[in-house]
Amino acid sequence: MRKFLIFLCLLLPLSALPLNINVRIYSSEYLKTVILAPKAGKYLLIGDGKSIDSVTESSVYQIKIVNNFLEIKTLTRELGKYTYIRLKELTPDCSFNIKPVSEKATRLYNDELLLSCSNGYLKMLNIVQFEHYLAGVVECEAGQRRPVEFYKAQAVICRTYTLSNIARHLGEDYELCDVVHCQVYRGTADIPEILQAVEATKGLVIVDNSKHLINAAYHSNCGGYTVNSEDVWSLNLPYLRATKDTFCLNQLHATWEKHFSMNDWLNYFEKKEASLKKTDKHGEAYWDSIPGHKRVYFYDNGYLIPLKEMRIELTLHSTYFSVEKNKDEVIVRGRGNGHRVGFCQEGAIHMAQKGYTYLQLLHNYYQGIQLIDSSALPAGAGTN
Ligand SMILES: [Zn+2]
Ligand SMILES: [Zn+2]
Repeated sequence: MRKFLIFLCLLLPLSALPLNINVRIYSSEYLKTVILAPKAGKYLLIGDGKSIDSVTESSVYQIKIVNNFLEIKTLTRELGKYTYIRLKELTPDCSFNIKPVSEKATRLYNDELLLSCSNGYLKMLNIVQFEHYLAGVVECEAGQRRPVEFYKAQAVICRTYTLSNIARHLGEDYELCDVVHCQVYRGTADIPEILQAVEATKGLVIVDNSKHLINAAYHSNCGGYTVNSEDVWSLNLPYLRATKDTFCLNQLHATWEKHFSMNDWLNYFEKKEASLKKTDKHGEAYWDSIPGHKRVYFYDNGYLIPLKEMRIELTLHSTYFSVEKNKDEVIVRGRGNGHRVGFCQEGAIHMAQKGYTYLQLLHNYYQGIQLIDSSALPAGAGTN
């Protein structure tokens, strides 16, 4: 029956938002022991299909991996060993606190938790209402003390991004992870403006002119120019075009600077040379080469180096930079932070502070888009 249902789900067209979503939490961490404390609502604690304790507001559990089983106990009682443990919600307002013993911070999550063992470590899935998840993501991705119109724009973007990436973990028993790969999610949002923004834009997603969900790319600061999608990734997407942006120029991540010793800098290029593409250009030295914002390559001594690779390998904030020689060091001066495609968050925050609406924010950074309710998406409306 279960197999049949999974098969049926795969056949169903992607359209309206799912009611619940299955997110792997602490997905990048290797944890053996956590402390779990239900906070609100009524829960049932299930171990391998059977109720194992009556959960109250003061219940606190320690769950530990022992010989590939989940060992669970309260402060005073052992509750046994299980293959999986589920904190199942009985009322719609449920939330729980969780804290790995190896960490200081406790996180609060809405809805349900499913624990199992994977390769000797805890695997924890938060089965959460879609809009609860979304608010948590907006809080992580958009930050605190932002204007409501910015939060609304970010809610629509994160909803679109989530829906178009929901098959990223196809073949695994969850839909999304909780790190940058699928958007950062660390539990319940508690900023009222974010909850208000998620509610005010409920169900809204961004589509292109053929009604496909867009690739809702966003980044921290474009440095004054966003870039075409094909300059960073291979795909040319008509709504992700290079645009001038004056709104982010004086914001926090508008400019940056990084110093390299001449030795380190030269070593980098020497190591890199074998994989580089030789060009027939002449007469340009690395320290007076100033890549424009649209250039995909950095030119060095006859070789073209993909800017994207330089950004990762030299841990630069963006690919929008110039290089200057100064005695025995090299100064890389850059603009912007992130891949610079699509929605520029710091530009959008400034726009919202100046009184622009969330619709104006979205139309400023994505060209030729429309907003529709997700229930109106055509069958199979994944990104182009
Ligand atoms: Zn992921
Ligand atoms: Zn910008």
